[in-house]
This record gives sequence, C-alpha cells and structure tokens, in this order.
Amino acid sequence: MDRLDRAPGQFRNFQKDDFEADWIKVAKCKSGEVYQVKVKLWREKCALKTFDTTLCGNNFYRKIIEEVSSIAKLKFKYIMPIYGMCSEVTALVMEYMSNGSLNNLLASHTLMWPKKFQMIHETSLGMNFLHSMKPPLLHLNLKTSNILVDDHLHIKISDFGLIHWEEGMNKTLFMERLTARGNISYIPPETFTDSPDPPGTTFDVYSFGIVIWEILTQQKPYAGCSVTTVLLQVSQGKRPCVTMIPDQRPPECERMISIMKQSWDDDHRKRPPFSDIVKQTEALSEVFKVPGPIHRGKNGDVEQKANYPWLFSSVKKITIPEMSDSPSDGQYDKEAILSMLS
Ligand code: ATP
Ligand code: MG
Repeated sequence: MDRLDRAPGQFRNFQKDDFEADWIKVAKCKSGEVYQVKVKLWREKCALKTFDTTLCGNNFYRKIIEEVSSIAKLKFKYIMPIYGMCSEVTALVMEYMSNGSLNNLLASHTLMWPKKFQMIHETSLGMNFLHSMKPPLLHLNLKTSNILVDDHLHIKISDFGLIHWEEGMNKTLFMERLTARGNISYIPPETFTDSPDPPGTTFDVYSFGIVIWEILTQQKPYAGCSVTTVLLQVSQGKRPCVTMIPDQRPPECERMISIMKQSWDDDHRKRPPFSDIVKQTEALSEVFKVPGPIHRGKNGDVEQKANYPWLFSSVKKITIPEMSDSPSDGQYDKEAILSMLS
C-alpha cells in the first residue's frame, strides 16, 4: 500500500519524493517559505510551509511537529485543513488557497461592504470554533496573512496552534517570537506590560479587532511606525485611526466599529468572547445577503440596482464583486462577474 493511501483524515508524513519536482515559491517571510507543490498520487496542488529552524531553534519546531498531528484532526469550514507534514524539510502540508492571503487581497483589490462583513463574520466563526474547544485552542498569531482566501472568496484561518506560551516561559522570549514574525500590531498591550498572566482567549480577540480595522479600511495599521513607537503608543491606549474607515459606509458599519473597539479594549476583561462576537457579526452579515438585481449598463458593464448606495463606494483598485456560492443566495449574473475577474 502506498504511504499516502491511508484512511481518510489520517495524518501523513510526506517525503519530498511524494511531490512533483517543480515547487513554486509562493512567499518568503521571516519565519520560512511557502511553496505550491503537487502531490503525485493525488494529482492535486497543496501548500507546503517550511519553517526556518534557525529563527526559534530546533526544539521549538520539534514541539510544533509533535502537536501538529493533533491539530490536524480538527475539521471546520473556516479553518485550514492540514494534510500532514514533511519532516525532511521541516514543513507543514496543507490545502492550497488559490487567492492567497487576505493581507495581499486587501492590498490589491477593493472589497465591497458585503464581502468585508462576510469575511469578518467567517473569521469570527473560525475563531469561535477554536475557542470553543476545551481547553480553548489559542491562535496567538491571528493576522491578515494567516487568513487565507479560496477560489470563491471564502476564508480559512491558518497557522493556529503554532505559537505557544509555555509553562514558566519568559515574557521577553514570547514577545521576541511574536515580533520576529512582524506581529507587533496584533499584540495586546497587556503582553508587553508587567502583567504576569499568560495569554488567554482575549489575546486573540484583540488581534481580531485589528483584523476588523484592516478589513474595513484596507490599510495596514501603524504604517511607517517603528516597533518601539507602536509599543509605546499602544500601551498608552492608542489604536489604529478609526477615521480612516471610509465615510461612505453602510449604517451597519457603526455596529461593526463598536465590536472592533470592544475587541481591542485596553482592559482584556472587557473584550467580548467570540461566542458573543459571532452572534453580532452573523446578524450584521445577514443584512447584506439579499442584493438587488444585477443589470447590464449601456456599455455592457454590470450594474447592481441595490437599495444600498454604499454597495458601490469608491473603487481604488480592481473591484471584486460580491459573489455567492449559489444563485439561491441572491440574484447575480455569474458570467459577467467571472469576466470581470479574469
Ligand atoms: P507566520 O509564519 O507568522 O504565519 P506569515 O503568515 O506572514 O507568518 P506564512 O505563513 O509563511 O507567513 O505565509 C506567507 C504567505 O504565503 C501568506 O501570506 C500567503 O500569501 C501564502 N500562503 C500561506 N499559506 C498558504 C496556503 N495554504 N495556500 C496559499 N498560499 C498560502
Ligand atoms: Mg502564516
């Protein structure tokens, strides 16, 4: 029996030889590299994320690999499926997400409000799932580059459970691990103050607040600021600028801004749990579920006569129209949308 031909859901240890020879580098970042690879047996693309073992030391990654086999058993629509690992190159093998990270998507395309609200809601669903486990599975690395986007512009949260607060861990070392990944904007202030408590679920809620801001503004928080400036400003209660959220916005956005502000509250006890957040984002994303009919304009462009003028706020980049999984979600001209995307 082939090593990969195992019972469904079983964690696999891939060999380099299990992949076609042409590995396409998708990204190189501080913590390692991501490749698009093709599994010979499956004839399917996968993502292979390698870890730079010099960054945190071999022990750190040995521990990750031990734990990843249990994380890989988790299955939920909004979290990244992990197929296995490839110990030859210290890498995780997971589903390949054709639209890359939300971080890149926000920089290259202007998203409309319904899509923004939907992505926020899907992120809260994924996080609620992780936190609903007993004990809660903390992400501790939630950021827009760890929210990946599939062919249909739905999201999956990735790289959860890779960062840990270990028993008796030195806080400086924990901060170093986070900042080494370029995560400074997502770290709640209590982590770099004197608080002796290890991070809990409210750490992730804070990061989620920053993610909401990024989705609403399509900007990077604290752009141009040094790590020290961010540390100082955030510990003094400063947060990304709310006025950067476009003025032309749906009335429901005020509620979303309020969730965002509660999520990044200075006092971690005041941050709402994902079990509450998810109910609110669900209600907000429901508002957008019934778009108006789509028409063809004089020059063949797609126009949508919705009740909401803010569906079509200013377009600064390429616009990705709202897409549904099935026409029953609302009326839309699928062909026209696909031609706009190509
Ligand atoms: P961290 O190691 O802290 O998670 P990061 O998310 O910035 O940092 P990677 O996880 O290595 O770095 O991912 C880098 C980039 O690779 C992502 O931003 C995304 O564009 C791409 N990527 C990661 N995983 C996948 C995947 N499963 N499918 C497609 N692209 C991916
Ligand atoms: Mg990542």
